[in-house]
Amino acid sequence: MKAYYKPDPWKIIEEGFIPEMNEASESIFSLGNGHMGQRANFEERYSGPSLQGTYLAGIYYPDKTRVGWWKNGYPEYFAKVLNAPNWIGIDVEIGGETLDLHLHPPSNFRRELNMHHGYLERSFTIRVKGKQLEVTTRRFLSMKREEVGAIRYAIKSVDYRGKVSLTPFIEGDVVNRDSNYGEGFWELLEYEAGPGTGYLKSRTRKTGFTACMTMGYELETEEDFYAPEVEVIERENYVANRIDLKLDPGKEVVLYKYVSVLTSLNHEPENMVQEGREELDSAMGAGYETLFEEHTEVWEENWAHSDISITGDTSAQQGIRFNIFQLNQTYTGRDERLNIGPKGFTGEKYGGSTYWDTEAYLIPFYLSTAPEKVARNLLIYRYKHLEKAIENGEKLGFTGGAALYPMVTMNGEECHNEWEITFEEIHRNGAIAFAIFNYIRYTGDTAYLADYGLEVLIGISRFWEQRINWSDEKQQYVMLGVTGPNEYENNVNNNWYTNKMASWTLDYTLKALTEVIDSDPEAYERIKKKTEFDLEKESSSWRDIIEKLYFPYHEEEKVFLQQEGYMDKVQRVASDLDPSERPINQHWSWDRILRSCFIKQADVLQGVYMFEDEYDLETITRNFNFYESRTVHESSLSPCVHSILASRIGNEAKAYELYLRTSRLDLDDYNHEVNEGLHITSMGGTWMSVVYGFGGMRIREGFLSFDPLLPLKWESLAFKILYRGRTISVRINRNRVHLENLQGDGLELYIYGVKKQLAAEGELIAEVAK
Ligand code: BGC
Repeated sequence: MKAYYKPDPWKIIEEGFIPEMNEASESIFSLGNGHMGQRANFEERYSGPSLQGTYLAGIYYPDKTRVGWWKNGYPEYFAKVLNAPNWIGIDVEIGGETLDLHLHPPSNFRRELNMHHGYLERSFTIRVKGKQLEVTTRRFLSMKREEVGAIRYAIKSVDYRGKVSLTPFIEGDVVNRDSNYGEGFWELLEYEAGPGTGYLKSRTRKTGFTACMTMGYELETEEDFYAPEVEVIERENYVANRIDLKLDPGKEVVLYKYVSVLTSLNHEPENMVQEGREELDSAMGAGYETLFEEHTEVWEENWAHSDISITGDTSAQQGIRFNIFQLNQTYTGRDERLNIGPKGFTGEKYGGSTYWDTEAYLIPFYLSTAPEKVARNLLIYRYKHLEKAIENGEKLGFTGGAALYPMVTMNGEECHNEWEITFEEIHRNGAIAFAIFNYIRYTGDTAYLADYGLEVLIGISRFWEQRINWSDEKQQYVMLGVTGPNEYENNVNNNWYTNKMASWTLDYTLKALTEVIDSDPEAYERIKKKTEFDLEKESSSWRDIIEKLYFPYHEEEKVFLQQEGYMDKVQRVASDLDPSERPINQHWSWDRILRSCFIKQADVLQGVYMFEDEYDLETITRNFNFYESRTVHESSLSPCVHSILASRIGNEAKAYELYLRTSRLDLDDYNHEVNEGLHITSMGGTWMSVVYGFGGMRIREGFLSFDPLLPLKWESLAFKILYRGRTISVRINRNRVHLENLQGDGLELYIYGVKKQLAAEGELIAEVAK
């Protein structure tokens, strides 16, 4: 693997500038604060390879779909996260020459992401007209004031004497690289520049979201400095102030650029210019240092409960912190209208929309590291989309309130259009049901069922009932024409995982019904009326399916079979593949991939992981060994699940190998695509591979339990979890497991299967199982 970035427990460091690596680094060094995000594009002009990316949470555009053969049922548009007006820009001119880091290659280049305090720094030397100047920059997107970004830009002359111009600007003429028809997605509404300031207000076409960016700056020069001259520039889609100064050898000038970024999600468009100004004034009134300090305090608080500390292995430590950092800066849980796209704020791919990734991979992270309402907000997001999911089902011919949640969505409508995924990758519905179960299992918030959850479960169960059919041939129920999580097989029959999700959802819905009928009969009556639910008829049909659903099984290998035809494929293992052919999705034709036995991501093993308690250790081990050897992990969502199972079966070496693969997936660019953006959603999986995998944490029959397995290379592992009003610290070293109840009531829990009492403010020490 490439080890391009320097190892460090709290930082990501790039030393030296390689233009071919720039887009990858722009992804890696991205910043966000839940409200907005920014790839690590340069402030200065750069004409080399770069993916410009400024993103605003919840702001999207329905780009018209582009497909070869239109299939009935396809959605007409794909909702895209938008590249928004560029607010970071600062043009630099030295002696009349515009600085372009592609044309003026920097030396001593260093880019550093400080994960502890959430900022990006760069420093480099440039040579213009034979003379040297040094630049240092720092930027952050305030975690305290989510509508504020700030940049410190310092330029110092080594041996240059002459004119330097700094031009902070906002530029609205931006495009998405992935625009299907090359259209601009923004229309300009208003712009104005004045001395020391400028704003630009634009609106998205079709969706009508408004964004207003307002900038201001301050200049810091040494006392005996030449007074700068300022020129105000405004033209369509561009507002700027050009500041002309003179520099002498040894002198430095510092520009502080402040920007407020408002969107119509939180402001009335007609008030945005004024409110943007007020936000900016308040930020500038506080000043750069204060803004920076309050920003870093929020990061300190975040880390206080979400950090994972690993000693003895810097690479592993850096990997997990990178994942946690990205998750915390992508989603803060403040707004239930928002969700988390697979690339977060780091790239355009996947449209920034919501996938099953949220329910399957992110809910666990937020459950344990954030207040309960954060995971709840993510569930409510889907509750609010229930009607649209029912409409989506209707479009595909389902009736009577059957809900099919979209594979990809922004506002509840499906916006993915590959038939094998849109119509067939329906297991996503099960993940949404599972997340309700998982949330309640963890938080104990059973009222959630009556308030929201049951309606969603009924809708999903109705879908499964209609999607499954009776086979006269088998004398069992079957589910035909699906795509499991392994997208390297399409249109298969009886994908074990999808069947499992369906039958589990039906069963859980029946239990949820009993629970609500018993605990809150009024709520049940309301839900019954709203959903026109027929208890007797629908539940007896669901019971019949649960009892008679077909699950493919291979008698010789004694494994759950991924799908009925899986063993017809030529059986090979991934280690037989020539490394030069990997990833196969970048080297093989699609039909060849479909015919091969190679598995893109956890499929049967996804189910084994989710329902682990139903299987004994031998079953888990057999299935793991069979499927792990055939899995190429070409989805970021894969290695984490395999790593957790490897820990479960005590395969330390494999668990560790897969852990590095998930936690350093982007840092070491395992799948050769980090330039497109980071794999944000799989980062929740990385967290699980440590806490569930090596920490062995589970909720079993209502009790928290831990079965730790420390990787051989690690001296210790420490993390905290929030659990039902408590903060519990877990520290594991080679000999001991040490639990402390830092806050909240005492509780009973299990360590290596032994029941223990952890008192309020108490601690527990247990020997590590050898
Ligand atoms: C995976 C899906 C996932 C999507 C977005 C795909 O490559 O196969 O399971 O939902 O990426 O992360």
